Amino acid sequence: MNIVIVGCQNGDEGKGKFTDYFASKEGAVVRYQGGPHTGHTVETQEGRFRFVQVPSGVARGAACFLGNGCVIDPIALALELRQLEKQAAFPIRLVVSPRAHVVLPYHRAMDAALEAWRGDAIATSPATGFRDGSGQLGSTRRGVGPCREDKIARIGLRMIDLLDEDLLKARLARLVPLKRRIIESILPGGSQFPDEDWDPARLAMRYAEAGRELSPYLGDVAAQVAALHSRGVPIVFEGAQSVALDVEHGTYPYCSSGNSSAGGLYAGIGLPPAFPVRVLGVMKAYATTVGGGPLPTELSGDLANRIRERGREYGTVTGRARRVGWLDLCYIRRAVRLDGTAGLCMSSLDVLGGLDSVQVCTHYESDTAKSFEYPVSMAALERLRPVYSTLPGWPEIDPEAPARGGLRALPAALREYLDFVAKEAGVPVVAIGTGPARHHTLVTGPLA
Ligand code: GDP
Repeated sequence: MNIVIVGCQNGDEGKGKFTDYFASKEGAVVRYQGGPHTGHTVETQEGRFRFVQVPSGVARGAACFLGNGCVIDPIALALELRQLEKQAAFPIRLVVSPRAHVVLPYHRAMDAALEAWRGDAIATSPATGFRDGSGQLGSTRRGVGPCREDKIARIGLRMIDLLDEDLLKARLARLVPLKRRIIESILPGGSQFPDEDWDPARLAMRYAEAGRELSPYLGDVAAQVAALHSRGVPIVFEGAQSVALDVEHGTYPYCSSGNSSAGGLYAGIGLPPAFPVRVLGVMKAYATTVGGGPLPTELSGDLANRIRERGREYGTVTGRARRVGWLDLCYIRRAVRLDGTAGLCMSSLDVLGGLDSVQVCTHYESDTAKSFEYPVSMAALERLRPVYSTLPGWPEIDPEAPARGGLRALPAALREYLDFVAKEAGVPVVAIGTGPARHHTLVTGPLA
C-alpha cells in the first residue's frame, strides 16, 4: 500500500514522525514538495534528528527521493548529507530529481526585499487590529518563493544545470545583474549581501562544486518510483506544509508558493493521476501557526505559553516561536475534502494532558449565518467568530502508555476527544501520538 502523509493544519503537525513511523527499510519515502525551509523532526532510539531537505524516511534506511516539485538549496543539502554521513546512524539512500529547481543567494535577497516591501499590513479594522493580508507573510527568507517565481517565469536553474559549469557561468552572468537591479529597485540597499554572492563567476564556481558533490545522487525520480511500485515496494509520500499553505487552496496570501496539498503529488514527482495511494492527514490535537497569517482560535497568556512550552512549539528551521490555539475543525474539514483523506493521524495529545477541559472550534458564525468552511478571503474571516464545543480534559498521560496497553490504556476523556473529532471530520482517527518519539505512536484504526 502507498501512503501519502499530508498536513491538515498550518504545517509542523508531526508529518516527519508519522512518515518515519510508516516507512521501512524495504520501502521508499518520496517528497514531492518542500525545500530548505521545511524542517521535520524524528526521534528514534539513536537520537533526535532534524531533517530539512532530506526525507524523514532516511532514518529507517528507506530508499529516499526528492522529486522535481521540491526546490533545492544544493549547498545546504550537501552540508546536511555530510553531517548525516558523519553521524552514520543509518545508511543514506537518496535520489534527487535533476529537474528540481535551485535556490540561489539572489532568491534569498529577493525574499528579504519583498518582505521589507510588504511592511506593515494596512489595518482595515482598527477596532480588532485585523490586517488585510498585504503585510509581511513571515517568510522563512530561505528564497523558496522567489525560486518558484523564476521557475514559472522560465528563468530558473535546475539541478541538472549545475553539472555544466560553463553554461552555469553564462546563465548567471545574465541573471545576476538583472536580479540585482530588481532587488535594488524594490529596496534600495537591498543587495547588500556578500560580494561573492553578486559575482557571477564565483557564484558559478561555488554552485558547480555543490553540483559535483551532489551528482552521484541525481537520477530519474519519476521512473525509479514507478519501477519500485511495479515491483510491489511500499511507498510513503512525505508531504511538506499542508492544504492551508497550498498556493491554490490555502490561506492566500499567507501560504507557501507550492502545491502542498495531496494534489501536488502527481506533478511534483511525475506520476499519473491513477497512481494508487491512500491519503493520511496529520494534525495536532490543537492548532499552531508561524508568521503573520490568521489563526482564528488563537490563545494567549498562560494557557498559550503552557501549550507552546510543553509542545516545544519552536520552528525546526528558524527556531521561531509558534502561535498556538484550540483545534479548528474548519481547517480539518477543508483538508479532508481537498486531500481525499482516508484517515487522520493526531499527534501531541500528551501536550493537552492535565487540563480541566479542552475546546474545539466546530464552525464559525457571523451576525447573520453559520459557516462550516474556512472562508476564501481574509476580510470574510474577519466577520466570523469561532464557535466552540467544550469537552472534558484528560489527566497527564504517560507517552509510553499506548505501547504497553493500546487505546484502552488511555483516559476515557481522550478517547472521547478522538471520537468527537472523527465524527466532525467525517473520517476515522487511524493513528495517534502521545509523545515525540517513534514508539509514542499507536495505530488506532485500519490503514488500508
Ligand atoms: P512536520 O513539519 O509536520 O514534520 O512537523 P515538525 O517535525 O516540524 O514538528 C512537529 C514537532 O512535534 C516535532 O518537534 C516532533 O518531535 C513533535 N511531535 C510529533 N508528534 C508528537 C507527539 O505526539 N507529542 C509531542 N509532544 N510531540 C510530538
